[in-house]
Amino acid sequence: MSIAEFEDNFRHKGLRRRLIDELRMKGIRDERVLIAFDKVPRHLFMDSGFVEFAYQDKAFPIAAGQTISQPYTVAFMTELLSLKQWDKVLEVGTGSGYQAAILSELGAKVYTIERQQELFLSCRHLLNRLGYNPQFFLGDGYEGKPTYAPYDKIIVTAGAPEIPRLLVEQLAVGGRMVIPVGPINNQVMTSIDKVSSTEVAVCEHGNFVFVPMLKGVNGR
Ligand code: SAH
Repeated sequence: MSIAEFEDNFRHKGLRRRLIDELRMKGIRDERVLIAFDKVPRHLFMDSGFVEFAYQDKAFPIAAGQTISQPYTVAFMTELLSLKQWDKVLEVGTGSGYQAAILSELGAKVYTIERQQELFLSCRHLLNRLGYNPQFFLGDGYEGKPTYAPYDKIIVTAGAPEIPRLLVEQLAVGGRMVIPVGPINNQVMTSIDKVSSTEVAVCEHGNFVFVPMLKGVNGR
């Protein structure tokens, strides 16, 4: 890719500041999260013809029929995760890689799983070019990634019909999972705190819409 394709100029930076003001107005309070939004050039995670849309607070189509989540949703989930520096985070649904970049920017050690081979292959180059080095996996997020468990935090960025049992197992005691749970087109943002090896505390945080969390791998 040429340098121009990675361009992040004053106009982009200005649009990002406006988006951050909008997120603040909509209730995002965690300054660390807002600073991460200022650092990560969202327009580079979408096809280059769509700069105009990159800094609107909207989800947008990416490859393989998937979407890059709405900035407010990314900010809301990231805030709910209450990340600490060096937290080990498992993300299910790499998609464009934008959420993984935000988590990395906040100092997390990120492990991210995607079931669409096309997306799995395309995001690594961009993230590495931007200086982020999450571990990427092609696989079915319902199974998590037991090799690296337990995780301090787990974030699922696709709508799950129910809370996946294996993911709860891979969460550290004292850890938190954030996941949209519900049928297609209407999920409730849910946080699951693992209180002990046998107990969880579940809390609901309003309605959101995500592409569905599907089983298996596509394209392998
Ligand atoms: N976090 C992404 C959002 C992408 S949309 C971003 O910042 O752009 C959700 C993604 O979850 C899609 O790419 C979809 O393919 C993926 N997905 C759905 N079910 C999955 C599963 N079981 N395992 C892994 N990824 C899954």
